[in-house]
Amino acid sequence: MMQIEEKLYLNRYLVDNESHLKIRDPKICLKECPDKPCTYTCPAQVYSWEDDRIRVAYEGCVECGTCRYSCPLDNIEWNYPRGGYGVMWKFG
Ligand code: SF4
Ligand code: SF4
Repeated sequence: MMQIEEKLYLNRYLVDNESHLKIRDPKICLKECPDKPCTYTCPAQVYSWEDDRIRVAYEGCVECGTCRYSCPLDNIEWNYPRGGYGVMWKFG
């Protein structure tokens, strides 16, 4: 069976140099969120916990919206990528 990484590889992205996903307050991730659900609910593994902070690999986001709801502290500011940028399903 095809792994998610292989499927995601089939997507094409036009990467913006500005992230459309922002962590509102990194201190909240560090101090108030022991489970860090964003690191395991995102299907594209955009969020990872490294060196005591959340890294956001926004380039791989498939714009599914899951992280908006999985962050228990509403600490992710979520926007669609700017017009023309982001994932392009049709070329997959
Ligand atoms: Fe931070 Fe929200 Fe992720 Fe928790 S789920 S680590 S608060 S972004
Ligand atoms: Fe991951 Fe979906 Fe959030 Fe993008 S919108 S970061 S793919 S959970």
